[in-house]
Amino acid sequence: MTSQWSDEKEAAVAAVRCAASVCLAVQRQLVTAQTIEKKDRSPVTVADFASQAVVCAKLMESFPDDGVVGEEDSRVLREEDQSGVLASVVDHVATGLGKTSDSGQVLDWIDRGGATGQQQGGGHAARFWTLDPIDGTKGFLRGEQYAVALALIENGQVVLGVLGCPNLSIDGGGGVLLVAVRGQGTWIEPLNGGGTTPKRVHVSAVSDPSGARFCESVESGHSSQSDAQKVAQQLGITAEPVRMDSQAKYATVARGEASIYLRLPTRADYVEKIWDHGAGMIVVSEAGGRVTDVAGKPLDFTHGRTLASNRGVIATNGSIHDVVVAAVQGVLG
Ligand code: AMP
Ligand code: MG
Repeated sequence: MTSQWSDEKEAAVAAVRCAASVCLAVQRQLVTAQTIEKKDRSPVTVADFASQAVVCAKLMESFPDDGVVGEEDSRVLREEDQSGVLASVVDHVATGLGKTSDSGQVLDWIDRGGATGQQQGGGHAARFWTLDPIDGTKGFLRGEQYAVALALIENGQVVLGVLGCPNLSIDGGGGVLLVAVRGQGTWIEPLNGGGTTPKRVHVSAVSDPSGARFCESVESGHSSQSDAQKVAQQLGITAEPVRMDSQAKYATVARGEASIYLRLPTRADYVEKIWDHGAGMIVVSEAGGRVTDVAGKPLDFTHGRTLASNRGVIATNGSIHDVVVAAVQGVLG
């Protein structure tokens, strides 16, 4: 008997693998000492669009009726002065998919990511995907952590998540793929496949928060590092925080290499985006952990493109979750 969501899992894994290979190719070709020094964002622009195009193209082959809520849309790319960028995107999509396509087709694939996650006339769509084609763009440009993150949402619940993390290592080698299906656990394998059997991952067994390691964003604008430091102090945590970009933080908690991921609001008006959390959330929860917002409320994926009824995120190994939420509440007041 095939398990539930097995076709979706297979398609999502193939799509994320292809997108990650596109990101790696762009990085090899376009990220140079000069682009890093000039903080030139053009490589990430190419990789972002090409990654979204290949994921949407692959999903459409298997699930032509599914909407995709993606981070990018092609408006800017359709402008005349962007023809060089577009040509580069089309090139990288061709290499990734192993077939050439014209620019019109590539732009259409990108715009397949324009779903809202809502039904016409109101209410959330019964089923849709959400995609961050490159999560952690700053990490991508620095040669550090980034992720391709794809999740499937049915009736407001994340039921499948795939995280491709080209710079997280496994058995000393480069690149991991984490796959979680509702009720079926979280599994890890090398990103490049290589015929290895996936291994199940579990969160850490830490039960005393003072022994926990926590991770947070590299960017202090994305998560308040000063509030996190106060939370750590309250919990008696002495280990330095692990700072990394992208949903690689969720992967790190799922693998038990850290026990807490704190994303503490830096501004009252920022609303988290669903593509920054869908895949990561299920990867942690299926590994035995828990994910809520800073008030301890479950993340609510019924509001379209954003987590409009949540603020911030706390992910933990589960056993210390309530204590961490209480400490965060104590600090945020
Ligand atoms: P990270 O790599 O964890 O720092 O997160 C990267 C993500 O942060 C990006 O994909 C953005 O969507 C998101 N982001 C941008 N501005 C903010 C903000 N003020 N607070 C929280 N997240 C943000
Ligand atoms: Mg992102």
